[in-house]
Amino acid sequence: MPLLLGCIADDFTGATDLANTLVKGGMSAVQVIGVPEDKLPDADAVIIALKIRTAPVADAVGQSLTACDALTAAGAKQLFWKYCSTFDSTDEGNIGPVGDALLKRLGSGFAIACPAFPTNGRTIYLGHLFVGGALLSESGMENHPLTPMTDPNLVRVLSRQAEGGVGLVPFNTVEQGAAAIRREMTRLTESGRRWAIVDAVTDAHLMAIGEAVAPHALVTGGSGVAMGLPENFRRAGLLPARADADALPAAKGAAAVVAGSCSRATLGQIGVARDHVPVLELDALATPDAAAMAAQALAWVEGKLDAARPVVIAASATPDKVAALQAKLGRDAAGALVEEAVATIAAGLVERGVGRMVVAGGETSGAVVTRLGVTSLRIGPEIDPGVPWTYANPTGLHLALKSGNFGARDFFLKAFDHG
Ligand code: ADP
Repeated sequence: MPLLLGCIADDFTGATDLANTLVKGGMSAVQVIGVPEDKLPDADAVIIALKIRTAPVADAVGQSLTACDALTAAGAKQLFWKYCSTFDSTDEGNIGPVGDALLKRLGSGFAIACPAFPTNGRTIYLGHLFVGGALLSESGMENHPLTPMTDPNLVRVLSRQAEGGVGLVPFNTVEQGAAAIRREMTRLTESGRRWAIVDAVTDAHLMAIGEAVAPHALVTGGSGVAMGLPENFRRAGLLPARADADALPAAKGAAAVVAGSCSRATLGQIGVARDHVPVLELDALATPDAAAMAAQALAWVEGKLDAARPVVIAASATPDKVAALQAKLGRDAAGALVEEAVATIAAGLVERGVGRMVVAGGETSGAVVTRLGVTSLRIGPEIDPGVPWTYANPTGLHLALKSGNFGARDFFLKAFDHG
């Protein structure tokens, strides 16, 4: 089948989230871990999952361009640059620099940037990103360990990290539909803008934006704005109807959750799990040694593994504890320490018979998937918006990679009610 949409995601959970959206839209989708050395898998959409959200800019740009070349060589009709729905980045990047490099490589002069995902409470109004009822900068994201978001105005945020001007397609225009959005984008291009933040408050807005960007070589945003893209390919007669796009082989083995996310939602999910299943909370500040943390966790699971109810192992901590560890080790070293510990724990759990595992945290998921040697993920049924079960190749493990802020409060319990 011809490749229609080629996607590059800046982290692993984001890639899964995007693949999930495309599968729901009727496209077959395979998520590939890192730039593949071999031929790309056969699917309507291939999502190359990189781990470049917080990588040095040159590294992020280099990996993205290699991925871009692989996707265009495979015949992709359109490229999608996927980043977090909370626009996780710093003034150095990597959303802007990667986007600029992709535009240049594709010979294009304009793209939208739209991280909105209303189903998960991410909406954009007059360029300002809201998370639930709060501005981005008051949502907890201002305390993120790696990419603190202290400015909710995405036009300003992107202007600081992208070349060329950044404009806005405002709510009033988006409300009028695809033709009006297209007119506004043309006006912005003519006035020298290379980028447009696009307001979106509802899924209907995302569908209209998706339709408007059909001719674009590059689309950038969260998984929400990809919702409108399958319809473009159907309209063009390129995408046939597909049944059972989300079927996975039967699950087997014990259930487990490992968490390295310190996001508010994850901390809440750990709290709910505590009342129902065995939960181990590791203290990275007291034991700043990855091997020792892993040994402690793997000793603790002895005799607790079960197919019907998960064990939960969390390195997650509240903002004050995260700040204390960062003060002691530096921000990157603190993150790397915890990622190393969680990845070692995940590998130990699989050795001990875990067959279904939820991983909480984008960066954390990247570390776990790399450690387990996973090369691609088939996308299965959705647990909560943006988080499907997946079937990992070549391990045969069922994995749910949860972006920190995603999922209902009982996510760690309800995940295991699904196949
Ligand atoms: P999210 O999806 O919520 O952004 P990530 O896994 O992407 O979660 O990022 C969380 C980061 O915080 C990871 O690098 C993780 O290693 C780090 N981290 C987790 N626990 C702690 C802690 N106790 N102290 C410092 N950093 C931590």
